[in-house]
Amino acid sequence: MTTAAASSATASTPINLFGLDREQLRARFAEMGEKPYRADQIMQWIYRRGKDSFDDMSNISKELRVRLAQHFVIRTPELVTEQVSADGTRKWVLRLDGGNAIETVYIPEENRATLCISSQVGCAMDCSFCSTAQQGLNRNMTTAEIIAQVWFAARTLGGDFQNERVISNIVFMGMGEPLANYAAVLSAIRILLDDFGFGLSKRRVTVSTSGLVPFMDRLREDVDTALAVSLHAPNDALRDELVPINRKYPIAELLAACRRYTAEKDRKAHIVYEYVMLDGVNDRPEHARELARLLGGMAGKVNLIPFNPFPGAPYRRSTPEAIAAFAKILRERKVFATTRKTRGDDIDAACGQLVGRVESKQKNRLRGIPVVAR
Ligand code: SAH
Repeated sequence: MTTAAASSATASTPINLFGLDREQLRARFAEMGEKPYRADQIMQWIYRRGKDSFDDMSNISKELRVRLAQHFVIRTPELVTEQVSADGTRKWVLRLDGGNAIETVYIPEENRATLCISSQVGCAMDCSFCSTAQQGLNRNMTTAEIIAQVWFAARTLGGDFQNERVISNIVFMGMGEPLANYAAVLSAIRILLDDFGFGLSKRRVTVSTSGLVPFMDRLREDVDTALAVSLHAPNDALRDELVPINRKYPIAELLAACRRYTAEKDRKAHIVYEYVMLDGVNDRPEHARELARLLGGMAGKVNLIPFNPFPGAPYRRSTPEAIAAFAKILRERKVFATTRKTRGDDIDAACGQLVGRVESKQKNRLRGIPVVAR
């Protein structure tokens, strides 16, 4: 039996190690007749020490290294382009298997540095103000492709994987709806949080969702991580237009899921409600008052995002005055509000500007389609 299993594994394509969380890697090793702690060692070599060659793994026997090389690879996507913004933001276009490309953005700030990663090639959510939506969904990314973005960025930025953190925060705010690619994203989060993986703390990994309620509940049960919710409107009529998934999971259901999400967590747990500021559409004082009523008493804060334009976009960015007035109304009503600083817009790296290179599948969009693919 062992021989049959081994030979079939050898015959198939090698598995990219970036795609396996600790439990999955241990299970593979068990199948190969190797000790589970070997999985821990391998992960440390990859994520803590930044190695992508089995030959460098000096506490692994020569024999096992040869076996590993038969079964596994450690492979990052190929770099297509790198752009550096005047503000230090970097955008990488990475080519995936199958000819598509996705984008990853690095945003250094004074006391933290955030990597914004993609989880799907394109997106099916069809939000009217987002350029990724214009492409439709081509396919889900694998865990390996999601994690390889982080490893690639860490290596490219040249920091020591173990000590000097060049990346302090990860946000799933690149291309795609992370919760529509649940299983792959879950394993990726586990690798990000694992002590033998990237070892990030739970508050420094944020999943951003347009509001896939059932998967928000599953996420709460499966892993402890920060959540951002793309709200963008204070009532269903407007949100139906901007974020079409609202027709399936309207605001009342979404906020109920948000309450469940923070209910059993510690006091510090809160949700960030993202709210894109569209001139004359959702940025009026009455919208702010309605939003304050909606969120009053919720464990969360509002992050106002000045709209980032893209070719053919049907919106304009709100004026700074309108954004300031909106934030003031929220704060007067005890709803904590911040305004997201626009970063990297000179290289189209800002929120909602990521397009990668997606082979068009225009039909795979939510608008006009009653349900999301599960
Ligand atoms: N699918 C996830 C991640 C999307 S990107 C989600 O919907 O949350 C992260 C944030 O950028 C979301 O809040 C998204 O709504 C916002 N965004 C999208 N397009 C934008 C644009 N053109 N200008 C500003 N923010 C935008």
